[in-house]
Amino acid sequence: MKKRFIYADNAATTRVSEPVLQAMMPYFTEQYGNASSIYELGRSAKKALETARETVAKSIGAEPSEIYFTSCGSESDNWAIRSVCERLTPKGKKHIITSVFEHHAILHTCQALEKNGFEVTYLPVYENGIVKPEDVKNAIREDTAIVTIMYANNEIGTIQPVEEIAAVCKEKGVIFHTDAVQAVGHVKIDVHAQGIDMLSISGHKIHAQKGVGALYVRKGIPMTNLIYGGAQERNRRAGTENLPAIVGFAKAMELANTDIEERGRKTAVLRDRLIDGILKLPRTRLNGDREKRLPGTVNISIEGVEGESLLLMLDMNGICASSGSACTSGSLDPSHVLLALGLKHEVAHGSLRLSINEDTTDEDVDYILEVVPKVVNRLRDMSPLWERICKEESV
Ligand code: PLP
Repeated sequence: MKKRFIYADNAATTRVSEPVLQAMMPYFTEQYGNASSIYELGRSAKKALETARETVAKSIGAEPSEIYFTSCGSESDNWAIRSVCERLTPKGKKHIITSVFEHHAILHTCQALEKNGFEVTYLPVYENGIVKPEDVKNAIREDTAIVTIMYANNEIGTIQPVEEIAAVCKEKGVIFHTDAVQAVGHVKIDVHAQGIDMLSISGHKIHAQKGVGALYVRKGIPMTNLIYGGAQERNRRAGTENLPAIVGFAKAMELANTDIEERGRKTAVLRDRLIDGILKLPRTRLNGDREKRLPGTVNISIEGVEGESLLLMLDMNGICASSGSACTSGSLDPSHVLLALGLKHEVAHGSLRLSINEDTTDEDVDYILEVVPKVVNRLRDMSPLWERICKEESV
């Protein structure tokens, strides 16, 4: 078997695509004006900035005036929650609803607000990794300021019933924010049609560079200042705009939303081959609902194997994958997402996330399906845990 290089960790980050890079290039060396300057070079920078805003808005069904550019998905998440909470505190709203398996950009923001007197309800996600809209409905109180539930989970890829949750929030008059960092560019989103009030996006998950993102805020929801200083981003987020990144981000949004359904269908075929192939191994389970998932995300628990060892051996075979989210690797705790599904610690430790995209080929999948069983069998041969599992099974 010839060693290949396969990047199957697109949920962690993606390669900057060639068209995105080309769109950015002039803004480094030719169109380098400051968008706040009044001469032609500045005016053309301003025009590029506003054109980018229009493109980003259009690709999620929003108005340009509803888009704030930010530096990343984490910033968008932090700003959305903190801003709503700060604005609504004087009205006696001191309660937040979220789910147990959000990204840490949400969970840690909620925990910080808990220290400031907010109460947070963490909804369960059950074995299938999906929040129930009726749980949201039952949790909403008179003093609820915001509901924040992710669009799609970063570790297991399950897609949440966002429209139903939005409808529940609307009925109760509560603001609904969704962290759509993993969903944008993979599933069609129309914020107005879906009733979403606020939505976070990150560029580096969709072939733009790292360090750029956006927050959509429905017209009529006032925002607090994130950064004080200049008048950028409608006086709410000061700082000279990162124009090359923003222009590239807009290009990436445009491309990601072209043929989105067709691309998704093709990727899902490969995803399903991966799922079926890996599940042939004994004592494995797919994490999260089989159907309601992103087209490119696979997360499988493999008993008797330790996640870090599996990743290292896959890396030796040229495969980049993940076990838990990139942000939590380096920690020895099992993933909070997998524990939320009810997995035992040792099972959660032996999980593999493969996140593929439109660049992934049939041959890549063949190769992964050749390498993973070999590596798993080798690790199991050396594992005292696997020996115990086999003994228990035979009695
Ligand atoms: N939210 C989700 C669901 C994510 O997957 C990530 C990144 O992995 C983030 C937020 C943070 O995005 P960024 O890396 O742009 O800060």
